[in-house]
Amino acid sequence: MSGERKAYIGLGGNLGDAAETVRTARRAIGTAPGVRELAFSSLYRSAPMGPSGQPDYVNAVMAVATTLAPPELLQALQRIEQTHGRVRTGERWGPRTLDLDLLLYDDLVFDTETLTIPHPGIAEREFVLYPLAEIAPDLHVPSRGPLRELVRNCPRRGLTVIAHD
Ligand code: ATP
Ligand code: MG
Ligand code: MG
Repeated sequence: MSGERKAYIGLGGNLGDAAETVRTARRAIGTAPGVRELAFSSLYRSAPMGPSGQPDYVNAVMAVATTLAPPELLQALQRIEQTHGRVRTGERWGPRTLDLDLLLYDDLVFDTETLTIPHPGIAEREFVLYPLAEIAPDLHVPSRGPLRELVRNCPRRGLTVIAHD
């Protein structure tokens, strides 16, 4: 297909059977119109950010080829969040069945009210950096630097691999 761009998506969830939700979300993303899967990391378990007392998260990172523009891709991801029971409560970083974040889109640097690329948390989050390094070790993160260096500066904070999908 021509006009394809490469994007990276962060998947996470901590309500219900989060591993199963991440796996079905993977299939939904890979079969969405204008999107195809290139690579998928292991599944990881991570400690929650934000409000305490919530279950651990299951996380993964997926590489896709897409003909969708960034806002269209975000919209497709948000639709998939909704079909997996995501309820937006307004509480930041509260528990959720599924969170799909657009981490990177080619080497684009883009900032609007509803979409920031690279994802603002990318350089500080172990549950993003380690799975990303698994599938794209040589990546350069626009305006942040080489992924290897970001990983080196980011403690694992108990992040563990739970499954090789
Ligand atoms: P965080 O973005 O810190 O991981 P979150 O994923 O819990 O927090 P959400 O509630 O999923 O936050 O999203 C809040 C808003 O973030 C969305 O409505 C979306 O418009 C906006 N947003 C901005 N940049 C991005 C991005 N790169 N990927 C996903 N959402 C984004
Ligand atoms: Mg998020
Ligand atoms: Mg999100």
